[in-house]
Amino acid sequence: MMNTVSTGYSSPNREARDHAIDMIVLHCTGMQDAEIALRRLCDPAPVAGNYPGPWQMPDADPDTALGRVSAHYVVAESGQIFRLVDEEECAWHAGRSFWAGAENLNARAIGIEIVNGGHDFGLPPFPKAQITALIDLLDDIVARRSIKGARLLGHSDIAPGRKADPGEHFPWADLAAAGLGLWPGPVSFDPAAPEWIAGDEGPGIAVLQAELARIGYLTGTAGRMDPATCAALEAFQRRFRPRRVDGNADPESRALVRELLALVAA
Ligand SMILES: [Zn+2]
Repeated sequence: MMNTVSTGYSSPNREARDHAIDMIVLHCTGMQDAEIALRRLCDPAPVAGNYPGPWQMPDADPDTALGRVSAHYVVAESGQIFRLVDEEECAWHAGRSFWAGAENLNARAIGIEIVNGGHDFGLPPFPKAQITALIDLLDDIVARRSIKGARLLGHSDIAPGRKADPGEHFPWADLAAAGLGLWPGPVSFDPAAPEWIAGDEGPGIAVLQAELARIGYLTGTAGRMDPATCAALEAFQRRFRPRRVDGNADPESRALVRELLALVAA
């Protein structure tokens, strides 16, 4: 049973959609608390001085304009859900982004901000009431919009190297256990198999890049562990193998990539 959705906050940061909705992007707010995040997401002219935090230099000019941002939904730690932008309109949460050949994903995505301090505040845990409310909200959206499991994504998946939210403590496995999103593994692999690191080259790396690209990630293609490929692997690990996130193509990560691809292709 879904919690009541509050419409007490409405964001002016929105525009008309020019694409059908076919994905959901999860974020964490990365701010001090829900009230500050809601204010920021509804602010038509945000300036640095109104949002002090570890993300800016202490001597930053308080009048510096910040980007206008928004999301369709905000899920508070208590489980309270706020709708800031109607789903039929485009909210501004993804920024520069890529998935499965498409860019500018705001046009096709529903964006959900989960209230959580994120990396700047030490990756605090996500309370159970919050995740339960999120799962109910996702159940509702996925059913109404027929969103495929492979297209329930994190901001880090669609902006590798630039964004790390909702972060490696976000319980993707719990969502998958509730039937939301894909989850590979556990997988078997040969721990003695080679591990490819930044700068390595070889035909196996080209295969891995093709697999990552078929899942949807923006990656390199030249059989070389270039920055784009390492960033894609880091995003993949942050979500599917969070205890070690380093962008290396280790045997376990490669097995997980193959397993996830099999689920995507099924
Ligand atoms: Zn985000």
